[in-house]
Amino acid sequence: MSSVSSDVFFDDEKLQQGADENFVEMEVFDILDQARRENPALTRKEEITIAVNLCKEKLRLLSDSDEKEERTLRQGYLDKLIQLGLEKQTIDDEDGEKEEIVRVRGHSFVIQPIRGRNPTCEVCMTTIWKLMHAWRRCKYCGLRTHDKCTSSVGRMCASSLVTRRDFSLNMNICQEQGLAAQNYRCHECAHPLSFEESSTLEPRLCDYSGLYFCSSCHWNDQMTIPARVLHNLDSEPRPVSRASKQLLAMIDNRPLIPLAAANPMLIKLNSSLKRITRIRSDFLFMKCYFVSCRSARQLRILQYLCRHQHFVESADLYTMSEMRDIVSGKLLEEMEDIHQVFVKHITEECETCKGNAFICELCTDKQIIFPFSDNVSMCCKCLAVYHHKCFELRSRFCPRCERRSKRAPVDIDPNERL
Ligand SMILES: [Zn+2]
Ligand SMILES: [Zn+2]
Ligand SMILES: [Zn+2]
Ligand SMILES: [Zn+2]
Ligand SMILES: [Zn+2]
Ligand SMILES: [Zn+2]
Repeated sequence: MSSVSSDVFFDDEKLQQGADENFVEMEVFDILDQARRENPALTRKEEITIAVNLCKEKLRLLSDSDEKEERTLRQGYLDKLIQLGLEKQTIDDEDGEKEEIVRVRGHSFVIQPIRGRNPTCEVCMTTIWKLMHAWRRCKYCGLRTHDKCTSSVGRMCASSLVTRRDFSLNMNICQEQGLAAQNYRCHECAHPLSFEESSTLEPRLCDYSGLYFCSSCHWNDQMTIPARVLHNLDSEPRPVSRASKQLLAMIDNRPLIPLAAANPMLIKLNSSLKRITRIRSDFLFMKCYFVSCRSARQLRILQYLCRHQHFVESADLYTMSEMRDIVSGKLLEEMEDIHQVFVKHITEECETCKGNAFICELCTDKQIIFPFSDNVSMCCKCLAVYHHKCFELRSRFCPRCERRSKRAPVDIDPNERL
């Protein structure tokens, strides 16, 4: 830092202008102008330090007198100090961020602490000795590298793949094409591969992509394969490449598996899947009750769904972690518990929700029914609910729709005219 030269300190003439609010600004301008001439490479941060020191020194030299001029000056220096402090903070924050995150190929590499085990660098494939090497980890996909290796990372971050609008999971069971189709090279880094020679050339098959990789790009990580669990309820973990592992780990809690659409037969034949599908459709009806019920909102009843919030947004999609829980039986148990809480609120505990119940108009039974009750049918036009048997016996005749059509003989629903 350059020293503060004495010629900018108090002189009587300038003190006369003390009341001028620009005085402090001018003083700072002068000293920085001089400092820049002495050192043209001065950074803004260094300039701020010089200006701060100037203001502090001036404040120290000012007497405690309560004269108006001195008070104004004191306030001027204090204001300037605050402004400089804020500017320095902003620069520090930006510097901190720049230093903290290195962005390469969609990864955001954050510097890591030296605690814990020494991982392997996924770029140079050697051990990261944490006490000796600075190292980074991508905050999205978890890829670990030496600090010095980040610029050489070849793999795109899984996060930039899954956020693409056209992203979809591979739902085909491992369609291995053979090494020849890959020119006997690793799919990711093009390292030569061969079944015959030394083990460094050993090809490793990724069960998710159906492609072969070298031992640097495929560490024999084991993951549940979406296609296998979707088509065969097979959640057995299988070897996948590093890229597939990072991708599958990232999407584990995203509802991306269209179970009913992709595999309707499986649901028909599997009783617990049938029950899960039924509960999910019940949840959608129940949500309609909860959104118009104040006490349900106060109770935050939908939060019982926890990680399954998407169950009240659609009826079909599952996450990979839910698919594993379907296979283990855990999901059905969890859903039955939540279902019970919801049913109890709507049909027993809440007067508002009970007030939105239905009574079958096609018979004399006055018992209330709900869209999610057993053995009921719903008119697809007006959403009125009837006993299934009554509705079918009357060839799906809906008294409510009938009343409505009588009240409004001119049908203005444009869909009806098609
Ligand atoms: Zn990443
Ligand atoms: Zn490295
Ligand atoms: Zn490779
Ligand atoms: Zn309610
Ligand atoms: Zn009935
Ligand atoms: Zn109707």
